[in-house]
Formats: sequence, structure tokens, C-alpha cells
Amino acid sequence: MRTSWGSATDRGHVREVNEDALLTFPPVFLVADGMGGYDAGDLASRIAVEEFAQLAGAVSVGVEDVHACFARACGRMRAEFTGGRQGGTTVAGAVLVEVDREPYWLVFNVGDSRVYRFSDDGLEQVSVDHSVAQELAEAGVIRRDQVSSHPDRHVLTRALGTGEAPEPDYWMLPAGTRDRLLVCTDGLVRELSDDDLAVALAGGGDPQALADRLVAAALARGGRDNVSVVVVDVVPVAALVGESWTTTPRGVWG
Ligand code: MG
Repeated sequence: MRTSWGSATDRGHVREVNEDALLTFPPVFLVADGMGGYDAGDLASRIAVEEFAQLAGAVSVGVEDVHACFARACGRMRAEFTGGRQGGTTVAGAVLVEVDREPYWLVFNVGDSRVYRFSDDGLEQVSVDHSVAQELAEAGVIRRDQVSSHPDRHVLTRALGTGEAPEPDYWMLPAGTRDRLLVCTDGLVRELSDDDLAVALAGGGDPQALADRLVAAALARGGRDNVSVVVVDVVPVAALVGESWTTTPRGVWG
């Protein structure tokens, strides 16, 4: 299998710096939304990208390898952020892995950046936000359709930072060649509803053109936050014997 992808990031119309970062380097694709004073958010998201970049080009990746990236990033943040300086980041993305010669997406998330899958069944949010509003919904205190308008929807309950050991969630999905993954920071979903995203994804087209279109749409709706988008397809490669990945490595930092 090989992957085909596109990505775009923008500072937005309100924030002074872009604290988002992203990585598109097969088999790993992710976004990170940094937070913290001065340049701490910027640094935190970059540390996450640098540690996950160690998976770039890997032929065989397991959940323990992904978890080790989280742990190393956490350790570096503890060393960087001292003396009351606080920083942290969300991390959401997916690694293309092989199980019994079948391709799967190993999806991971900590924080409120998101991974969606668009398939013949439509758009589905794979990751679950670590936000106060989402946890209230999980506990049955509010309805699920109230999450997107709840005042605490951007208040995080988990992030990758200097605190306790990282607690990412993981999912395994068959990587269908008719499916498309959308990975994004909250700057996108703050401006566009899931219905908007579903319409955009149903339009199909080249992954780079779609990533550009989604970021442009978020900016047109106000661009109140940094916005980052990664779109990834799995493309079948016929008759490749003894070779799991044929990809064009390329890294992008936002
Ligand atoms: Mg954000």
C-alpha cells in the first residue's frame, strides 16, 4: 500500500502566532495544537512532531512505538518547561500499520484535535475529545448534540505536557482504499460543523486541494484559531512483492 496526502495550516485571523504543527511523513500523519505562554505552545507542538518524526519511514510500527513517542515528547517537555513555565499540546493522528498482511490505521489522540474517517457510510469522528463538554456527554449530564455548543467544549481534560504520564487513546481501523482520513486541530471544527465537513469530503478530489479548501473555509468563517488539516488516502499498489511501503517521504512543519 502507499499513501497519498495533502496538508495545510494557517495562523488564522486572530492569533499572533501559529502554535499548531503537523507531520505528514509516511507511515505517520498527525496534527498538534500547542498551548502555553510566550513561545511554549509553539515549542510543545514542535517537540511532539519531532518525536513522532522518528517513526517516519518505519516499515513496522506497533502501539508501543507510538506510545514511546508520547513518552519521549513528555520527557522533553518536562526538561524544557521549568521554573513555572507551562506548555503542552494536543496530538491526534494515525499510523498506517500492517496486521496479517492487511493495512490498518492505528489512530491515536490526546486532547481535542480530531481524526475523522470518510467512507461509503459517510463521515465518522474516530477520536473522542478529551474536553470537559465531551466528558459531560459521556457521563450523560448533557446530550451529545450539546457538546459542540457547550461553553467548556475547548477546556481540555487531557493533553500532552509536563504533568502525569501521557494518556492517549488508541483505535485500530481497517485502512480501506475507498476511505479517506481527515486529521485536524480544533481551529477547523470551531468554524465548520460535521455536516460542513461531510459535504466537503463528499466533494472528493485531490487530498492537497481538499486540505487547502478546508483551511480556506475555516478562514472565511472567521479563522478565530490556528487551523491545521491533514487529508490522507490509502492507495493500492499492484504486484509489489516483498515491499510494504512505497511512499514519497515529505515532512511539513506548520
Ligand atoms: Mg486550537
